[in-house]
Amino acid sequence: MIISFDLDDTLYNEYSFIKSGFKAVSKYLFQKYSIPQKESYSFLEKRFTRFGRKQILDEVLKNFNIYSKKNVLMCLSVYRKHKPKIKLYPEANQCLKRFKDFPIYIVTDGNKLVQKNKIKALGLHKRVKGYILTSEYGLKNSKPSPYCFLKICKKEKSKPENLVYIGDNPKKDFVGLKPLGMKTIRVMKSQYKDIKKSKTIKLAWAQKISGIVTLILVNAGYFESSVSPAVFGTALIVLGAMSNYLRQVTRKPLDEK
Ligand SMILES: [Mg+2]
Repeated sequence: MIISFDLDDTLYNEYSFIKSGFKAVSKYLFQKYSIPQKESYSFLEKRFTRFGRKQILDEVLKNFNIYSKKNVLMCLSVYRKHKPKIKLYPEANQCLKRFKDFPIYIVTDGNKLVQKNKIKALGLHKRVKGYILTSEYGLKNSKPSPYCFLKICKKEKSKPENLVYIGDNPKKDFVGLKPLGMKTIRVMKSQYKDIKKSKTIKLAWAQKISGIVTLILVNAGYFESSVSPAVFGTALIVLGAMSNYLRQVTRKPLDEK
């Protein structure tokens, strides 16, 4: 069994990264233009809550009368290159401990420098077998494309049905994987947690597979109607116990009763 995770809002809270980036930008604006850190940070935070990330660096610079395209790029660079102060979700930490004997991978979209900084800040590079930054393989191979997941299967000499992916975004995390028989678990944490199953969004609902695998998938299905982070840990422990059991069963010599 290969266990793979999405990064943002699956293993840690992405908003904590955004806030950490805003702090770095505020510090930079203070050092360069003597703008009080508290004022620019408060502007960034409020603006983000109301309008999201769009044009936010342009707006903060306009607000303090220092807007120029060059300054926007400078702030963007500060945001992207800063060393983030972020922490794993406690239950994600627990899962990583529980599954340390399994091949664990991270598959994440987004800016490769930013994603790599996050992985390092969270100490994940020491705890997983590998991580794939999909942007290194071009936009067409980022999620929902299964390209990077098939790469993992090839590396592990394993079939797609032996891969589990745990993510939070039903719009892209699972749609490319389910048709190939990969297992998926949806973490109900982020802005996507209220998205319901619909005809337009093909969620990772359990496919009909026999035996113990069905039970695992029932657990996965349970996630989709659950908001409790505790369930995240519990279902993964069940999943781990099941696959341990399966490994033992399949490794048993033929003449052993
Ligand atoms: Mg995510």
